[in-house]
Amino acid sequence: MARVEESKLVDEYKVARVLLTEQQIHARVQELGAELAQRYRGQRPLLVTLLRGGFIFLADLTRAMPIPHEVDFMLVRSYEGTSSSGTVQIIQDLNVNIEGRHVVLIEDIVDTGLTLAYIREHLTMRNPASLIVCSLLDKRDARRLEVPIEMVGFPIENEFVVGYGLDYNQLYRNLPYLAVIDPDQV
Ligand code: IMP
Repeated sequence: MARVEESKLVDEYKVARVLLTEQQIHARVQELGAELAQRYRGQRPLLVTLLRGGFIFLADLTRAMPIPHEVDFMLVRSYEGTSSSGTVQIIQDLNVNIEGRHVVLIEDIVDTGLTLAYIREHLTMRNPASLIVCSLLDKRDARRLEVPIEMVGFPIENEFVVGYGLDYNQLYRNLPYLAVIDPDQV
């Protein structure tokens, strides 16, 4: 178990334990960025991120990807508290026309797979030249719908995690590491 890093945030946020440290996340994001750069050299891909959870991952990934590329955002809602609501609401759609573009969908975490399946379908209907998914975290055992994920940062156990962009009721996103919380204790 990783040591809880000294941070005053931990006093206010009741973190059960650190799952992935800042250093571990940084190293893996650099690898993912290099892999994407190699894969899409000369193709000017579009990185599409789901807000809000993906904003910190995208911010680091885009700087770890030394090729020309664009970014765009969608604002979606699928979670209440610690459970998936089962329906995905697109609150704000893309600004860019993705027809004929190489699209990389950047996800913070895939849990039941419901959000990803819905958004994948939504993007595919717009005829991109290609579409892959790059998710920082993959909670495989929680899957209710099988959906392809081409790149995964870390497979994780079926626990509720926060930090590095991921929230519990809109808090905890600013933790620089990923931590497990016990929803009964927060
Ligand atoms: P899914 O539709 O169940 O796969 O859930 C996907 C979305 O739920 C993610 O993009 C997250 O925003 C949120 N989510 C799922 N698991 C967690 C978690 O452990 N912590 C925080 N958010 C989560």
